[in-house]
Amino acid sequence: MTIRAKKSRASRGSFQSSESLSAAARIIRKGRRFLVATHRNPDGDALGSALALAAGLRKFGKTAKVYDADPVPGPLRFLPGSSKVSRTLGNKEMFDATFVVDCSNLIRVGEVFLSHPGKGPTVILDHHARGARDGDLRVVDPNAASSGVVVHRLLRRLGLEIDRAIATSLYVTLVTDTGNFRYANTDAGVLSLASALVRAGANPDAVSRALNDMAARGRLDLLKRALGTLELFDGGRIGCVTVTRAMLRRSGARIEMADDFVDYPRTLASVEIAVLFRESKEGWRVSLRSKTYADVGAAAVRLGGGGHRRAAGFTLPGAFPAVKRRTLTVLRRELSKYPVYKRKTAC
Ligand code: 5GP
Ligand code: MN
Repeated sequence: MTIRAKKSRASRGSFQSSESLSAAARIIRKGRRFLVATHRNPDGDALGSALALAAGLRKFGKTAKVYDADPVPGPLRFLPGSSKVSRTLGNKEMFDATFVVDCSNLIRVGEVFLSHPGKGPTVILDHHARGARDGDLRVVDPNAASSGVVVHRLLRRLGLEIDRAIATSLYVTLVTDTGNFRYANTDAGVLSLASALVRAGANPDAVSRALNDMAARGRLDLLKRALGTLELFDGGRIGCVTVTRAMLRRSGARIEMADDFVDYPRTLASVEIAVLFRESKEGWRVSLRSKTYADVGAAAVRLGGGGHRRAAGFTLPGAFPAVKRRTLTVLRRELSKYPVYKRKTAC
């Protein structure tokens, strides 16, 4: 069957509208076979959103295949349905429509996905304000704390009851993208959705243990090495840590075990922008976090990546000294926009 996703004015804009949500719901009602995909190096919001949506589609009597080009990171393997996330997409597989969650830039899903002929219309469910605007229909709310919030709205629009498995996945999207309910995007709406999800069966204690307290020894060994690389710039306002492939090898750790290392330089009182440099196959993967005023999303876009005001990232090829120099130049320019009197540090 063919489903045509009409590009409405609202769906092309960056803000989610009730209209685009209804259009997405219509696509689900009409179709039978769906693909749910998310970006490479998936995090808790990416996989939580994908698994919640797929579970919802199945409750609605549809088939849903969840695709990610990279494996599910160890700490997220407790997510219901995560063992069935597929890393392959056969050329002959046909779908009535494809949902891409937590990502507005289809190249981040991977080359195989991009060139797959059987995707049908592509619906983006996301909360990134910046960067690419791919997709035939976009349900994007930059004010949503996680992509899971957008998925939740869509499931509710379809009249679906949120069961324990879906609640757990959606709860993980909130925990991941609010930094355990600590970042500036933690508001009354987030806490009330979290409360509803807990009422529907999500278990905060079990989720926290699975995400934070199940690490392999190699992760701590890697952290020890990474903390040894701590460097401060710009009078202490920029704090960087670095993970090289040699460090991964020596500690027997995998690159995704360093996903939250950027939070360590951020804990320093003087630091406004925390940076994690990771040496990967694709080049230097750089994670940025800001604490109170700097817009690291804008900085990341300038370096070919994307993200939000307080959390963003990009990947640069080349030698480390050059990558570091380029990154610091852009970050210093961002910080220079905020003279001392404009910096807001109080609660
Ligand atoms: P993380 O540092 O946790 O990998 O990513 C933080 C935020 O920046 C996430 O919202 C993520 O989607 C975004 N981000 C990270 N790397 C990239 C990238 O290379 N391109 C784009 N467009 N966004 C990125
Ligand atoms: Mn997200």
